[in-house]
Amino acid sequence: MHPDQAPDKPLLSLVVPFYNESSAIAHFFQRITPILAALDTLDYEIVCINDGSADDTLAQLIAIAERDSRVRVIDLSRNFGKEAALTAGLNEALGDAVIPIDADLQDPPELIPRLVEQWRNGYEVVLAKRVNRDSDSYLKRKTAQLFYRLYNAVSDIKLPDNVGDFRLIDRQVLEALKQLPENRRFMKGLFAWVGFKTATVEYVREARSAGETKFSGWRLWNFALEGITSFSTVPLRWWTYCGSAISLFAFIYGLVIIFKTLIHGIDMPGYASILTVVLFLGGIQLIGIGVLGEYLGRTYLESKGRPIYLIRRRYQKAED
Ligand code: UDP
Ligand code: MG
Repeated sequence: MHPDQAPDKPLLSLVVPFYNESSAIAHFFQRITPILAALDTLDYEIVCINDGSADDTLAQLIAIAERDSRVRVIDLSRNFGKEAALTAGLNEALGDAVIPIDADLQDPPELIPRLVEQWRNGYEVVLAKRVNRDSDSYLKRKTAQLFYRLYNAVSDIKLPDNVGDFRLIDRQVLEALKQLPENRRFMKGLFAWVGFKTATVEYVREARSAGETKFSGWRLWNFALEGITSFSTVPLRWWTYCGSAISLFAFIYGLVIIFKTLIHGIDMPGYASILTVVLFLGGIQLIGIGVLGEYLGRTYLESKGRPIYLIRRRYQKAED
């Protein structure tokens, strides 16, 4: 239990990953502190994870933690990526309810009281669903839409669309999440996998308060592949169908050629068609091997059983 916590008040943990957020930290605490302080039926703590920032993010966080015992800082040994940082924060959080939130204020803290209210109503998960994506570029909107469609088509566990990591989860859900041992963590998928009684609250997503996004197009693409291969083996099965279809076609074509040869005798032309078929099949096989490799690679990485993140040090103001 937190030192300042009255025994009967439940504790709310905010989990915030920070990666090179030097220019966003001050805004973040300015805006979030009054909102949390106004929640008088709850105590709160802010678990900040420094995900190997190269700027003065850590120094700023430590300075804040030294003034406020409700702020804790977990310094990871290097940059492990947002999913791992979030996992670290969730593991460290002590709250009866936990809210992961981005440091750039794109997840509006004003929504927190509404999330808490739904939790009080008995929901174990309260999703924050964004009703617009105006703050994202056209391309990001379209690709995100495509991703959700593709993902939900191939995966048994459906992802609610336009829902990020910003949500409230109950202690029970957190304990369930902790039981999922996988190393490569696609948090949205893991959150969806555990289930529980869920409510949704809508909000308008804002533009970044300061600094710039850490997710380039290429990183998002890899993130999407990660998401799909973590939760579905349908792409593997596609290759069975693809192979079957091509074999069937080849068989029929073979019959046609045999009959043609029997009737018309042998003629030599056919260089173009042979080359086309050889190249086409070569390409198909390579793609198939690539997909296999994708899954094999995941199995390999998981089988090592390495920890998801390493903590260098924890910072917290001593009890006074
Ligand atoms: N983040 C992190 N590690 C990383 C990349 C990002 O902890 O390797 C944090 C970042 O500091 C922010 C959150 O994850 O708090 C979301 O990142 P960002 O705003 O860049 O993503 P976007 O909103 O553009 O999807
Ligand atoms: Mg952001």
